[in-house]
Amino acid sequence: MTKPTVFSYDSPGQIKQFLESHELAMSKRFGQNFLVDRNMREKLYSALEMDKPGLVWEIGPGLGAMTSVLLQKGHRVIAFEIDHGFARVLRELYGELGEFELVEGDFLKTWTDFAKTPPENGAETCDAVQGMPDRIFGNLPYSAALAIIADLLENEFIPPKMVFTVQKEAAARIAAKPGSKDYSAFSVLCSSVCTVRLLFDIGASAFWPQPRVTSTVVSLAPRATPVAPTARREFSRFVRCAFASRRKTLHNNLLSWSPSAARGLPSILTQLNLPSAVRAESLTPEQLAQIYFALQAE
Ligand code: SAM
Repeated sequence: MTKPTVFSYDSPGQIKQFLESHELAMSKRFGQNFLVDRNMREKLYSALEMDKPGLVWEIGPGLGAMTSVLLQKGHRVIAFEIDHGFARVLRELYGELGEFELVEGDFLKTWTDFAKTPPENGAETCDAVQGMPDRIFGNLPYSAALAIIADLLENEFIPPKMVFTVQKEAAARIAAKPGSKDYSAFSVLCSSVCTVRLLFDIGASAFWPQPRVTSTVVSLAPRATPVAPTARREFSRFVRCAFASRRKTLHNNLLSWSPSAARGLPSILTQLNLPSAVRAESLTPEQLAQIYFALQAE
């Protein structure tokens, strides 16, 4: 059972008072906006599609608005929070529960070491280490959202489902298709390894303080057949070079990746029936992978 909190997660007034009484300030730098809409919390929980108790990694729990939902529904939560004041509150509220564990610090700096640490209770896990969670979830800080998602994907740490709330514009970049203005190296990374779905928007009024932007909830699930699974990091580096300058052709962008590979490109483009002045932004992840592997074989 979770303890009743001393404030309501639905009441900005009570949250403000609680923060003041604990001498805690909100930090813009860490993108702190609390989800104060109970219906939205339930909707987000449903998006996780968990039909039995499981292990959830929560990135950026804040004061625990979603953590409390997850614990109440019987899940085990490992929460990663950068703000030391919020971490103190989370320990106060949930620290005594066996199902709750807190990893304090920047997720980008803590998660890989944490994932490699054997579990304290010696529990059997699917990996030799902490084990892959069943879900990764987060109402992510807007400024770090894409870096956090890219880090997980590039390290191929992909549980059966990830659900993230991000700025609407960031969601468009995650799900962008070839030829659209939002399509980038990051979109290729996401769709190379995951099936991406845009689930629903969350208006600013669901948060306190209200952000100036609309949020979108995205879900990412591992693709049955990922693109370039054998060369994840090198393929990502190739794709980043391919997109380095949107004004340049693929050939000119690849000169900085490998001048000799760029020399081999024209004949590969001919074999693939692609124009010699093709730009990366019009190529699917599969086509980019075909080109990458053909260049490797030259
Ligand atoms: N989940 C809470 C909610 O929905 O009410 C808070 C969400 S708030 C948008 C983002 C949270 O992420 C804040 O608690 C912030 O301190 C935390 N955060 C920001 N950057 C972080 C990072 N690099 N690693 C871990 N937590 C981070």
